[in-house]
Amino acid sequence: MALKRIAVLTSGGDAPGMNAAVRAAARTALFKGIEVFGVYRGYNGLINNDLFPMNLRSVSDIIHRGGTMLFTARCSEFNTEEGIQKAIKVCNDNGINGVVVIGGDGSLRGAQDLSRHGMPCIGIPGTIDNDISCCEYTIGYDTAMNTCMGMVDRLRDTAQSHDRCSVVEVMGRNAGYLALNVGIAVGATSIIVPEVPFDFERDIITRMKMTSQTGKKHFIVVVAEGVGGVMELADEIQKSTGIESRATILGHVQRGGSPSVRDRVLASEMGYHAVELLIEGKSNRVVATQNDSILDYDIEVALRMKKPFDFELYNMAHEISI
Ligand code: ADP
Repeated sequence: MALKRIAVLTSGGDAPGMNAAVRAAARTALFKGIEVFGVYRGYNGLINNDLFPMNLRSVSDIIHRGGTMLFTARCSEFNTEEGIQKAIKVCNDNGINGVVVIGGDGSLRGAQDLSRHGMPCIGIPGTIDNDISCCEYTIGYDTAMNTCMGMVDRLRDTAQSHDRCSVVEVMGRNAGYLALNVGIAVGATSIIVPEVPFDFERDIITRMKMTSQTGKKHFIVVVAEGVGGVMELADEIQKSTGIESRATILGHVQRGGSPSVRDRVLASEMGYHAVELLIEGKSNRVVATQNDSILDYDIEVALRMKKPFDFELYNMAHEISI
């Protein structure tokens, strides 16, 4: 059946650049004569029939904004067979025969469920955590790295002025990609990530003492969310070294802000590609990027893939921050 009307939704944690993906998907479809419905608050909107027809101007003035104009949410009802059936019925009742879902791995599982129930669905990875294995860069990751870098640069100013140690927690859920890259970019003395078991003495205290001997007086320790415990860590560091140590959890500031060039371009390409796939009659695919090209994978295959952690980069980071 030819594609007549699609629905676009954002789901799970928000990420800067989601708006650019919504805009690209909507405009691509409209350009090709396909009608578009925007769905509010992720899968909740599908279940509760909370959607609206979009025109070319519905997505005006959003490309530069963080967050998502469609709002986002988690929806436990969608994890049940009854919830999925409701969503499918709402799609059918509204004449929708294709769905674009922008979100993280949970949202992609939802997209898989829609596809399995006969509703053609394409996922777009939108998450600052960059934890979608098939995709080198997810929407929002680049912006979040830059936001974190800016915040830690500010912490460095004050850590430097007071000869302090600043222990900073950055997001990433169970993945250390954000922490590793931010850690390198801010010149952290230690970077602690879930992928590498860490030893307090070896990875923090010895490094601080070693660099103190060559005149270093302030320190930055970047800790991934998946490791956590920065308050306790700062206390322990102060007790062990006598250097005043402060903990900062960057938190949700990392999710906000105007998306970077990279995220806007990536999101635009992904939104475009997702609609092209629906037009080709594809379903259960996730759009991805590898080596600067846009491609797509079967969602099930994609969710089984493992993204290797860059140990070479991790080792390099520690060699140069002495
Ligand atoms: P993210 O997409 O950012 O990873 P979540 O994991 O919270 O965020 O998932 C967002 C939403 O996707 C959930 O609230 C739920 O509606 C849907 N979802 C998550 N996991 C599944 C699953 N296994 N099957 C179907 N839908 C799911």
